[in-house]
Amino acid sequence: MMEVFKSEKNINTIKFLETEIPFKMNFENFVISGRLDDVVIAKENDKKIIIEIKTVKDVRNAVKPNKNHIMQLQLYMHATGIHDGVILYVDRTNLKTKAFEISYDEEHSLDILNRFKTLHKLLVNDVLPIDEFKQSKDTIWMCNMCEYRSKCDRNEK
Ligand code: SF4
Repeated sequence: MMEVFKSEKNINTIKFLETEIPFKMNFENFVISGRLDDVVIAKENDKKIIIEIKTVKDVRNAVKPNKNHIMQLQLYMHATGIHDGVILYVDRTNLKTKAFEISYDEEHSLDILNRFKTLHKLLVNDVLPIDEFKQSKDTIWMCNMCEYRSKCDRNEK
């Protein structure tokens, strides 16, 4: 995908700017830092956009953007100040794609930052956070791949 974005053939429609961008947000008593991986910052009609690339088994099943992918993109948009985004699903078998445009939503971003603040408070007080992925049939499948599954099942810190 990176080669497609960087290709000179696409220069008139989209201009590849950068990828693997580090970000850092300072709060009163903690820092959120990370790196935007599998993300492209591109320029279209003089407007910067963040393109978050996700590979999927079958792109036909991507009928709407995944809630967690939207959260991730909102955080990136908040951190970078680039307020236009796209979640691009790429079928790993045939490279077909499906794109969803996402606009910056300040309220949603602040909710996400509040989740970090809550998590920080729990950590400093040595309290386990709620096992929220187990609470929904849409997310429980992720527990099967979680390296903390057995500890989580035992409510162990
Ligand atoms: S098993 Fe892992 S992903 Fe599932 S709720 Fe527990 S910590 Fe979260």
